[in-house]
Amino acid sequence: MKVYAIPLRTRFRGITVREGVLLHGPAGWGEFCPFADYSDAESVPWLRAAVEATEAGWPAPVRDRVEVNTTVPVVGAEQAYELIRASGCRTAKVKVADPRVSLADDCARVEAVRAALGPDGAVRVDANMAWDVDTAVRAITDLDKAAGGLEYAEQPCPSIDELAAVRRRVGVRIAADESIRRAEDPLKVAVAGAADIAVLKVAPLGGVRRALEVAEACGLPCVVSSAVETSVGLAAGLALAGALPSLEFACGLGTISLLQGDVAANPLSPVDGYLPVPREAPEPTDAYPAPPEVAAAWEARLARVRGLS
Ligand SMILES: [Mg+2]
Repeated sequence: MKVYAIPLRTRFRGITVREGVLLHGPAGWGEFCPFADYSDAESVPWLRAAVEATEAGWPAPVRDRVEVNTTVPVVGAEQAYELIRASGCRTAKVKVADPRVSLADDCARVEAVRAALGPDGAVRVDANMAWDVDTAVRAITDLDKAAGGLEYAEQPCPSIDELAAVRRRVGVRIAADESIRRAEDPLKVAVAGAADIAVLKVAPLGGVRRALEVAEACGLPCVVSSAVETSVGLAAGLALAGALPSLEFACGLGTISLLQGDVAANPLSPVDGYLPVPREAPEPTDAYPAPPEVAAAWEARLARVRGLS
């Protein structure tokens, strides 16, 4: 078991350091890294996903590489432009609706992203549930204009009913993320009618097999995204993207560059916008060890979550 702590290049989801535990078993390495705002009960699926990787491995893939998007955090328009140019990706996901910035700032960032991608690129935005219905309709309309056409808008509002209401009032496709991964039972959440696309994340859904079941149950095109894991956790996301029967959109797995470094000697960094589908997670090095008190806290958290699962 290794506990890591890796600084983020830019504040993301309110955190500046990503921490987690790497576990090893007969099938290889797995990652357990629920964010701090996940309770022990909510962290049980994260542990299941890690245990699947270490004990069972993943189902066979149907493709050997996956197109990925780059993620643009809440940065200035100029930095957003540079991030896109450096990424080599054709699709960008822009984080919007952060309380620290205005809609005009979001529009400026989205415009810079379109300029960097060119007309053939795809721009999607993620509001992480920040808006009410009216605000979402106004913001999505403005952002769609600034982007010269959005590919989709991810989780504009908290509830399924609100997503459905927004979807009726805008011409942009709506993607559901938190509505699925934080649902009491992701297999039963009725996103059809409220969303056009389902965002799937391996860890909060409890593993690759479980996420494949969710994909089948929701009956929507799926996008696989990371939870900003190290390359060990990203490998599980790639295993899911590799095993989905169909994959129409670029996946949110090109996130290793959000971290200042990685535990793997050869990080899963996209080349020309693609990542390979690995058969197992890379072997981690001893890079970025967590300070002793942080490691102790994670060992205690892991023990508590194990006790619940
Ligand atoms: Mg999201």
